[in-house]
Amino acid sequence: MSELSASERREALKGVFEEAQGCVRCAELAATRKTVVFGAGNADADLMFVGEAPGASEDERGLPFVGRAGKLLEQLLGEIGMARADVFIANVLKCRPPGNRDPQPAEIENCREYLYRQVELIQPRVICTLGNFSTKLLRDDPTGITRLHGQPEVLAVGRRAVRIYPIFHPAAALYTPRMLETLREDFKRLPELLALPAPEQPQWLEVPEAAEEPEEVASPEGTSATAEVATEVDQLGLF
Ligand code: URA
Repeated sequence: MSELSASERREALKGVFEEAQGCVRCAELAATRKTVVFGAGNADADLMFVGEAPGASEDERGLPFVGRAGKLLEQLLGEIGMARADVFIANVLKCRPPGNRDPQPAEIENCREYLYRQVELIQPRVICTLGNFSTKLLRDDPTGITRLHGQPEVLAVGRRAVRIYPIFHPAAALYTPRMLETLREDFKRLPELLALPAPEQPQWLEVPEAAEEPEEVASPEGTSATAEVATEVDQLGLF
């Protein structure tokens, strides 16, 4: 994947976008949504934001963070000299939960693959998780945002190593001045995080297609060599 050029990755992202448009993995969301809100922004962004799920305005317009929380996000970006067009913004869920209820575990699981493919194709250096849902998903851990905000760490997201930076969700900060100040402080560290060297990527062993059904070679003990090769591939894939 890393050998693809930025324009090839962008084309592949469009393919994922098209696939997501017809998604019916969550029957209720597919039946109630107006649009699939795939995410928007720079397909080659160093910085990606991941929110929770589209709300009513996002569902209407097909774009993430276009309501009041989105305005705050744009303002905070402006304060660190960045614009919405510089970053890519996505959500844990691509469809609006009816009545803005919380995303359900099965929905998060159904949608996770789209997010991972977005990360794999956009290749951000830093992912800001906005609030609890994206933080818990991308850290694969139930620890909440209040404990974790402002603490970056390099983690695997699918096949990518990415610097994850949890911060409060802008919607939560809209009505709580102290939370807004904390969010602003955490935001101010973003330029410094973006200037760090990109996280080292794990070395994935490309398995040639022909190797999927290798000819069995008898080992001296009379067992198949295929299992040994498979184990080696697994181990090399760990980091
Ligand atoms: N809140 C989110 O988490 N995502 C949006 O797109 C809008 C509001």
